[in-house]
Amino acid sequence: MIVGGGPAGLAAAVYGASEGLRTVMIEREAPGGQAGTSSRIENYLGFPVGLSGADLARRAVVQAKRFGVEVLTPQEVTAIRAEDPYRILTLADGSIVRRIVENRHQGSVHVRSRPGHTVFSVCLPVPSNPAAAVSSGRPT
Ligand SMILES: Cc1cc2nc3c(=O)[nH]c(=O)nc-3n(C[C@H](O)[C@H](O)[C@H](O)COP(=O)(O)OP(=O)(O)OC[C@H]3O[C@@H](n4cnc5c(N)ncnc54)[C@H](O)[C@@H]3O)c2cc1C
Repeated sequence: MIVGGGPAGLAAAVYGASEGLRTVMIEREAPGGQAGTSSRIENYLGFPVGLSGADLARRAVVQAKRFGVEVLTPQEVTAIRAEDPYRILTLADGSIVRRIVENRHQGSVHVRSRPGHTVFSVCLPVPSNPAAAVSSGRPT
């Protein structure tokens, strides 16, 4: 589970999903973060003539989705807590995103909905750091 869809979150989503992790990225505004507002980024690796922040964000989202990343936006995460074996995110609309480590070799995401609540039970292969990833370049 990745909180924030700036360059850090998008990169984490692509790398995680490309390694076979079932990945959910939650962004409160729009993917791209601060970089998404830049008219020209000249120093991003692989783009020798630069590109706009919006283009960078669009490309990264396409790449992430190609690897199966689920992008939840606009959704704000208001709380993160660990209740072993769960990692639990609370969203501003009251929804709960919950990750459970059940199986170290196979990932799966289960989505259950009821009025006002959507519950994602996310079972992932255990990475070296089992905590939810949080990416944010500014205070939340
Ligand atoms: C106008 C401008 C031009 C820039 N140009 C360049 C440049 O040319 N080269 C360069 O190297 N750097 C540039 N930067 C800096 C670069 O954009 C940042 O270093 C980069 O965006 C940081 O990425 P990040 O993913 O760590 O954080 P951010 O870009 O801040 O992304 C964090 C994301 O997390 C989301 N978020 C935060 N809290 C929550 C929450 N509770 N729930 C859900 N989502 C949340 C935010 O909405 C945001 O999208 C520029 C910045 C600006 C503003």
